[in-house]
Amino acid sequence: MKVTDHIKHSKGKTLFSFEIIPPQKGRNIQELYNNIDPLMEFNPPFIDVTTSREEYVYIDKGDGLLDRKITRMRPGTVGICASIQHKYNVDAIPHVLCGGFTKEETEYVLVDCHYLGIQNVMALRGDAMSHEKYFKACAGGHEYATELVAQIQNLNTGKYLHDVIESEHKSDFCIGVAGYPEKHMEAPSLQTDLRRLKEKVDAGADYVVTQMFFDNNKFFEFVKAAKAIGINVPIIPGIKPIAVKRHLQLLPQVFKIDLPEELIVEVEKCKDNKAVRQVGIEWAIKQSRELREAGVPVLHYYSMGKSDNIKAIASALF
Ligand code: FAD
Repeated sequence: MKVTDHIKHSKGKTLFSFEIIPPQKGRNIQELYNNIDPLMEFNPPFIDVTTSREEYVYIDKGDGLLDRKITRMRPGTVGICASIQHKYNVDAIPHVLCGGFTKEETEYVLVDCHYLGIQNVMALRGDAMSHEKYFKACAGGHEYATELVAQIQNLNTGKYLHDVIESEHKSDFCIGVAGYPEKHMEAPSLQTDLRRLKEKVDAGADYVVTQMFFDNNKFFEFVKAAKAIGINVPIIPGIKPIAVKRHLQLLPQVFKIDLPEELIVEVEKCKDNKAVRQVGIEWAIKQSRELREAGVPVLHYYSMGKSDNIKAIASALF
């Protein structure tokens, strides 16, 4: 079922969902199931599966030279989605990226998704590759998520690439896009970034999932500003529980977000990461309760492949 239909059918009750990352190449999918299993009792209507950017690896040739190869360390997004739908009978949502894919490759991914009965896709630009300072689209790929949304929307009307029209065999994807309560790191201002978000919605996006934030006021202001410029699709908050002390530096550095002083002080008081994990759980519960009271349609958690803290949060709420 489409995410928007799940929201409609919930009749105002806040739903629980989460995001997982594929295992590293060569690892067993059972590891993934072991982290999904404990969360199924909270009835997630959908589970998101991320897609990783490709990266360079250097292989020692033994003669003092290094061979540079390109690889995706966590492949398998669409396969994992199919297996989740089959095993758990919940909707799985593949993240589809502009970065590293030509428009043709994207079309093949979407055709696979359509055949597999996947009804939702999350359309994202992707970050720059780890050695790049700025994002660069590959030759024949999309530069911005808006263009990807337009390609998916075209497919929904039966318009394939290179003017192939198959209106009898169109897809019907529900399209999610990313939103940033503290603005995207490259955007010159929050207002400009919101205008870009509106472009994604105008191109066909059906719902928005936000970047993590730790201060609910940022989310509430973002939703208000989004509505003010005519963004009327559901906006789903993304929540990440802090899990290790290093997150105090890592999260602001990687995601360009602020952490509230009160949370920083609590984390700094912790003697070890077990205590930090507990602080993260309590903060996320507090955030989630307030968001639920404000009537958010879904509470969407970034699990980073570990379910114990998400289970503790969900147990307190659902
Ligand atoms: P866009 O919407 O294209 O925006 C990127 C930047 O360009 C913004 O600053 C925007 O303001 C600006 N912009 C947009 N359109 C234009 C235009 N026409 N002209 C000029 N500027 C413009 N990354 C992954 O690699 N894999 C994942 O699975 C993944 N999942 C994610 C899930 C969520 C919920 C979120 C919030 C992020 C996720 N990301 C993922 C990270 C995401 O790919 C990065 O944040 C990326 O840098 C931006 O992606 P976007 O889709 O928001 O890009």
